[in-house]
Amino acid sequence: MRPAPQPRLFERDVRSVHCVGVGGMGVGPLAIYLAQLGFRVSGEDDALTEEMRALLARERVTVGSIPTECDFVVHSSAIAKTHPAYVAAVARRLPLVRRGELLAEVMREKKLVAVCGSHGKTTTTAMLITALRRANFSAGYVLGGLFADDTPPARAGSNEWVVAEIDESDGTIDRFTPELTVAVNLDWDHPDHYRQLADLEATFVALFGRTRKAVLISDVCALSTRATAQLKSPQVITFGRSGGYRVNLLSEADGSMKLSLNGLFPIKQAVVQAMGDFNASNSAAALAAAHLMGVELSENLLAQYPGVRRRQSVLHATPDLTVIEDYAHHPAEIRALLTSLRRRAKTRLLVVFQPHRFSRTAQFKAEFAAALAQADRLYLLDVYSAGEAHVEGGTTADLYAELRRNAPALHVAYYPGHGAFMLDGLKSDIKSGDLVVFVGAGDIDQQAREWLELVEQQVSLMKRWDSQAEMLRARVSAATKIKREEILAEKTTMRVGGPARIYAEPATTEDLSGEAKARAIEIFILGRGSNLIVPDEGVEGLVISLGHAAWQTFEPMGNGRVWVGAGLRLKNLCGLATKAGLNGFEFLEGIPGNVGGALRMNAGAMGGWMFDVVEEIQLMTREGDVRILKKADLHVGYRHCDELQEAIALGALIRSASASESEAIARQIDVYRDKRVKSQPREPSAGCVFKNPEGDSAGRLIDAAGLKGERVGGAEVSTVHANFIVNRGNATSSDIIELMRRVRARVEETKGVRLEPEVLLYGKEWRDVL
Ligand SMILES: Cc1cc2nc3c(=O)[nH]c(=O)nc-3n(C[C@H](O)[C@H](O)[C@H](O)COP(=O)(O)OP(=O)(O)OC[C@H]3O[C@@H](n4cnc5c(N)ncnc54)[C@H](O)[C@@H]3O)c2cc1C
Repeated sequence: MRPAPQPRLFERDVRSVHCVGVGGMGVGPLAIYLAQLGFRVSGEDDALTEEMRALLARERVTVGSIPTECDFVVHSSAIAKTHPAYVAAVARRLPLVRRGELLAEVMREKKLVAVCGSHGKTTTTAMLITALRRANFSAGYVLGGLFADDTPPARAGSNEWVVAEIDESDGTIDRFTPELTVAVNLDWDHPDHYRQLADLEATFVALFGRTRKAVLISDVCALSTRATAQLKSPQVITFGRSGGYRVNLLSEADGSMKLSLNGLFPIKQAVVQAMGDFNASNSAAALAAAHLMGVELSENLLAQYPGVRRRQSVLHATPDLTVIEDYAHHPAEIRALLTSLRRRAKTRLLVVFQPHRFSRTAQFKAEFAAALAQADRLYLLDVYSAGEAHVEGGTTADLYAELRRNAPALHVAYYPGHGAFMLDGLKSDIKSGDLVVFVGAGDIDQQAREWLELVEQQVSLMKRWDSQAEMLRARVSAATKIKREEILAEKTTMRVGGPARIYAEPATTEDLSGEAKARAIEIFILGRGSNLIVPDEGVEGLVISLGHAAWQTFEPMGNGRVWVGAGLRLKNLCGLATKAGLNGFEFLEGIPGNVGGALRMNAGAMGGWMFDVVEEIQLMTREGDVRILKKADLHVGYRHCDELQEAIALGALIRSASASESEAIARQIDVYRDKRVKSQPREPSAGCVFKNPEGDSAGRLIDAAGLKGERVGGAEVSTVHANFIVNRGNATSSDIIELMRRVRARVEETKGVRLEPEVLLYGKEWRDVL
């Protein structure tokens, strides 16, 4: 079959076209349209989904690199000039054009209905196509998306009309001369191409001016009204509540709405399978365009509108959890989307957002932050660049900073470069009744689907945790506390973090042994939580605290020796030792841990270390066996004791330096306390965040790098002691981790020293997040 009509863009007889970026919503449907016109079409894409591959195969578009016989290459604007396919096309001297240029060319001889505008053009185009198909009006069409059912995204048609979604993002819009233009609304976007609003406006003024028959604009879009104000021809007609084509939303139920139609509409009502004011307006635009094309309107043309993929697509809906995915990527779209979802959310609205393009993020940071602030909890992914080079101020970290400044109360999680880690955390955050929405135009739809699979696994995992907790309860005495999903923030000095899947406070050695032997579960020991950052998503395991009174013993054994239980607070140890007239422990005053934590960390201050005063320790192995180890058998050093890496400290025999007057000991304690008050902040913290590098002090380096007072959300580098990060009241662990990352990077950059964390990331490894 000879292709027809022959586009003027082609200098020679063209039979075969190769499409680069054929998996995308711009080039994919165009490839199908070209195949429909009779061209031999091939294509390639770096991220082709199986579904798209199958669709292309059905439509006779072959997938692979540029074939030997190829006359022409069309590419998405997101394809860089360095892309191997682009380079290969240039090397073979094949003509290269962008999607919009070719689309304009193959539609030149047709009566084109161009659907354009900033928000809702894919939906409006899809609605128009649906109405035309339902009315048996055989126009050609090219959608910039995929229908939610198996309606093809492009067809050649058999009459003189063709409907196409026209994209203004790359300037190719200048090539179109429509018969009818439908402008759903106009808003400033694509700041990489349109440096200012006036540039965008000029482009649309020109398009409207080139339109032959009529321009349909929204009655509430001030910019469209302005852009059409000077037009002599064509005719300008409005749609909307007060438009020429008038629409009102009468009712909504079961995913459908009833519209009342007035003004230029020849029918009084329409039923549309879609919901919301925004979709009522889109339906009015689509039905008005169909009417202007000469279609006989009837009430049910959109009653079976199948919807478009990635537009409020419901991925999961149970009474416990609803998961929606949406393509919104401009602040105005996000505002409209979240406003409508807020109404739908039974309890909380959790939003995962992947910004699209650095230039858009840089330009609209403040507007994004304002729109996203409607969420109850927000999770940010790195910017999806869409092939764009980095733009100053346009990263997700910049958006995160904007949110922390302007919406400090909003819970925001962001782990640069570790989106999967963050989404893992989101799994643990969800509560019954939550609505989770994934928002963005990048690959977030894929991520949403993968996440949902993980959630489904999590549901069965939660059931497993329930039964593990039950098994533990059956194994221990009634005095032992066992809880599910116990929040750990309040059990730490930093006051951040999520829940422990199982939390236990054993009352006896036998009970602890029963827990320690729980083979199938990972076990974490919690002291006073003064050297820990608990992740926002909590800890996947059994957290054991020696908080029961049974572990808080202080038993003088004669000769200045004392047996202290692992659960005894260091502060109490100092108080009791003072009363007993035992000196040598004063340096421990002010370290807010307990004996177990101090042994594990070999805590130290004022020139003394915990193991300076230890003679022996009692520990329990993970097999549940109790052992006593002499100091000489232990391997201890700066902030560690190897033997307690795995085992649980139960207590220690400590030795006083000498007997002394209680008053003298108390005076020494006061001296140390004064020193701390002067040199350490009072706000919640986890003590020193980084280890002192050999021969230097982390605090000095951080201070010298100018980082005192540096803030991320509620986390701040203390202005009193630079190696402390303090919680100013509403910090999350994401804030703290991001601040640590920043401090570390700045110190390395300015001082050439790579700081290593001293605080522990509870239940995780720093190397996985820093
Ligand atoms: C304001 C402030 C000041 C501080 N000053 C100092 C200081 O001067 N010097 C200093 O060294 N530290 C200091 N720290 C840090 C912290 O207090 C110490 O590291 C302390 O020893 C931690 O004890 P913890 O009970 O809070 O342990 P946690 O923070 O709860 O736990 C720390 C580690 O010990 C493990 N652990 C806890 N109990 C046991 C046990 N029974 N058996 C085996 N492992 C166990 C935990 O699993 C974890 O790995 C300070 C912290 C703050 C907030």
